[in-house]
Amino acid sequence: MENCLFCKIIKGEIPSAKVYEDDEMLIFKDIAPQAKIHYLLILKEHFANIVEMTDEQAVTLARCLKKLSGMVDELGLQGGFRLVSNKGADACQSVEHLHIHILGGEKLSEKMA
Ligand code: 5GP
Ligand code: ZN
Repeated sequence: MENCLFCKIIKGEIPSAKVYEDDEMLIFKDIAPQAKIHYLLILKEHFANIVEMTDEQAVTLARCLKKLSGMVDELGLQGGFRLVSNKGADACQSVEHLHIHILGGEKLSEKMA
């Protein structure tokens, strides 16, 4: 997608603080962190959100989340973490490329919204 910010990050056209990359996903630091640790996990294949996701993309996402579960220590998330994926206006989604927020590194709010 030509004008997608996260596709530009994947292509290296916009710099990012990458913490993990393979052929199907990228994990990088959010530019405006909302917790001590705030990463974004994105799939390299562009689609807007969970609702737009195909069955095949859902399998890829599940595989990437499983990979994430094996990286907890190296990502500094031993104490726990929260995953969030915003979809649409009510959730204030601002980038229309599916992304999973990974929040942790400290005790998070008991409230999620
Ligand atoms: P959303 O609001 O769509 O769920 O999340 C988009 C996230 O992307 C926000 O947390 C925002 O801080 C982050 N973001 C926006 N632009 C950039 C950027 O250029 N680089 C990085 N690393 N994060 C960005
Ligand atoms: Zn994209």
